[in-house]
Parts: sequence; C-alpha cells; structure tokens
Amino acid sequence: MLIDSHCHVDFPDLSEDITGVVMRARSAGVSHFLCVSVNLADFPRMVEITAPFEDISLSVGVHPNETLSHDEEPDANTLLNLATHERVVAIGETGLDYFRSEGALDWQRDRFAVHIAVGKALQKPVIVHCRHAAADTVELIKTEGAHECGGVMHCFAEDWATAREVIDQGFYISFSGILTFKNAGELREVAKKVPLDRILIETDSPYLAPHPFRGKTNEPALVRYTAECLAELKGITLEEVAQVTSDNFSTLFPLAKVSKGLHI
Ligand SMILES: [Zn+2]
Repeated sequence: MLIDSHCHVDFPDLSEDITGVVMRARSAGVSHFLCVSVNLADFPRMVEITAPFEDISLSVGVHPNETLSHDEEPDANTLLNLATHERVVAIGETGLDYFRSEGALDWQRDRFAVHIAVGKALQKPVIVHCRHAAADTVELIKTEGAHECGGVMHCFAEDWATAREVIDQGFYISFSGILTFKNAGELREVAKKVPLDRILIETDSPYLAPHPFRGKTNEPALVRYTAECLAELKGITLEEVAQVTSDNFSTLFPLAKVSKGLHI
C-alpha cells in the first residue's frame, strides 16, 4: 500500500469530486492520506468534507504564506485547542517561505516557533514547508527543539546538506512529484543519499503533478509515480518503497489510523 503523506483534498479542485478522488487513489493502491491544513478559517470545512473517509488524517496549522492581520495570527492556545481534535495527527503546514513573502519576515519565524511549541506540547509532529529559507528553517528546528516532537520537511527540494541537518534532528524527508521532473537531476541525487528509513512520499495535490502529468491537476492516486521514481533511484521494487514509506509514515504519525488491508 502507498500513503500520500501530504495532500490538500479539501481544496476546490479536488473537493468537488472528493469521493472520486479517494476512489481513484484507493484503486491505485493508496490506502491513507494526510490532508494538510493551510489556515484556520478553512479548518472546520476540511474536517467536514473529509469526515466520511476513515483513511484521511488531518493536520492543523497556518501556512507561512498566509498573510493575516495581527489579531488573526494564530496563538498557541487556539492552535492547541484545534489540534486536540482526534483526527489531527500533525501540526502544520508551517515553516518558512522567503520566495513568496517579502519584507521583514519576523512574523513568519514567530509563527513557525508557535507551531513547534504546540507540536511539542501535544507530541504531534510538525509538517515543515521550506522555500528559499533553508538555513533559517534548519536554525529554527534546532533552536526551538523540534526534535522533541519530530516532523517532516515536505515537498523536499533542498540540497543534501540541508537534508542531513534535519535528519540529524530526527526529521523525515518527503518527496513529491518534483522528484520525477526532467530537470530535477540534482534532487534525484539527494534522494539517493537519504536513508530509506527517513523517506516519505506525497503529492502536495492539487499542485505539482508528477511527470508525465506535469501542469495538470494532481491527485493522491498519482503518488505512485513518485514511488516508482524512488524505486528506480534506490534500486528496489515498488512494493519495497510502498512498504518502507508506509512504515515510516506510521512511525512518524502513530495517531494516524492506517489500515493494513490494501496491497499494490
Ligand atoms: Zn502543501
């Protein structure tokens, strides 16, 4: 079985046909999905839309690119309350993005620190987004003690030095469809070096459809293409990639109710 460790099935592109999206994924051997929150305003809708599906776990958090007024900024108590929801297995997505946000970004670093504090308080891992901010992301993971709750650097597109630093902090590395892109040779070299017992796979759907679907709407069924690419890079079978990445997912997110029923 395959697990999509990071998707946004509550986004309109996918939620309009969420039953179809889930069915197609199950047919492709995907037996669990982590639907990742990007802001608190949409969280109740995400809970509602995904409620009929036992194989969808949730996270709660505010994405680093969400621009909010000061009084909307999530405080630790608000996040703590939402994160106690029984289907919430992780905190995020959080992290740093200096590509899409400009100016003084202390607020992003503060927000990231609040998410790590909540992860530590509840012993729920953090899902970390990082773009053009690798050094500060590693720094905050270290200074805020994120190893105490663990986490994953999702949609990984950084270099080996960064991967190694966060692995040393107990983190996992999640590869998305980017791994399959023709121009992602450097990332594939990084993937060869990341120990198998630290790898997760994801779609980040509806974004980042893998080759040969690049540019189209992505969905969890397509996580298989990333798994196949990884199998080739590691010189192992698709079944082995499925097994190890699913085991890793269950280790990192022990609260996720992953059923062992489906095989690919
Ligand atoms: Zn995402």
